[in-house]
Amino acid sequence: MKIGVMGAMPEEVSRLRTSLLSSRRETHGMREYAVGTLRGREVVLVFSRWGKVAAASTATTLIERFGVDVLLFTGVAGALDPALAVGDIVVARELVQHDMDASALAGIAPFEIPLLGRSSFPVRGDLVQKAQTAARQYLALDLPSDIAPETLRTFGISTPAVVSGLVASGDQFIASAHVGDALRRKLPGVLCVEMEGAAVAQVAHEHGIPFAVIRTISDRADHGAPVDFPRFLDGVATHFTCGVTARLLDLL
Ligand code: SAH
Repeated sequence: MKIGVMGAMPEEVSRLRTSLLSSRRETHGMREYAVGTLRGREVVLVFSRWGKVAAASTATTLIERFGVDVLLFTGVAGALDPALAVGDIVVARELVQHDMDASALAGIAPFEIPLLGRSSFPVRGDLVQKAQTAARQYLALDLPSDIAPETLRTFGISTPAVVSGLVASGDQFIASAHVGDALRRKLPGVLCVEMEGAAVAQVAHEHGIPFAVIRTISDRADHGAPVDFPRFLDGVATHFTCGVTARLLDLL
């Protein structure tokens, strides 16, 4: 089984790449794909870049050129559910493109992807389970030795939760509580917002490839978001990504 690992942050991908064995690199469409072995699994690792088009194009290359059998996407996200805290890990169960709206056309619902006849993409149940297990294992077994307690305290992280549910993706970095609230009203039950997951989900769906999306909450999708997340990325998110991905590769 060949596993495509996509990261939305170059820092996360660089860190994962240090553990990639016998690797070679190929460049296609401005992306560098690193092919090698991670935790004994055949992996193609790539920085997806940001936004839906970038993620969709990267996912397509992984499927068409590299023949991956499964896609894993990791990154950070802004919390929309008030119960979520920075440092919590969200495992997507279902993904929606929150900026897709062709409802002015007869018979098309808001968020519905024209011609696919669906407004969201579910993640296969066994992959949701495995991603949740991987995240829980990382937090319980690896985190204590992976990140210094002072660093976690800086971000107010004490006991991160693993939560699973609806993730919204769109070509917008949400840094306003107003906009975040409007999204929550439009998408009841939505957990977090990011910019790539549902695009990867659509490509995976169209090619019949299983996929998983795992996001660490980096901000609250409000005015603090742009300030919070670069610091969070270095100190916490890259560690979470590498740790959870390693655990998940062991489970696949
Ligand atoms: N690193 C860049 C910006 C990255 S774009 C910088 O420092 O300027 C934001 C990335 O974080 C995307 O991968 C997106 O999926 C995710 N993300 C985190 N918080 C988000 C939010 N509040 N709204 C939308 N995307 C968010």
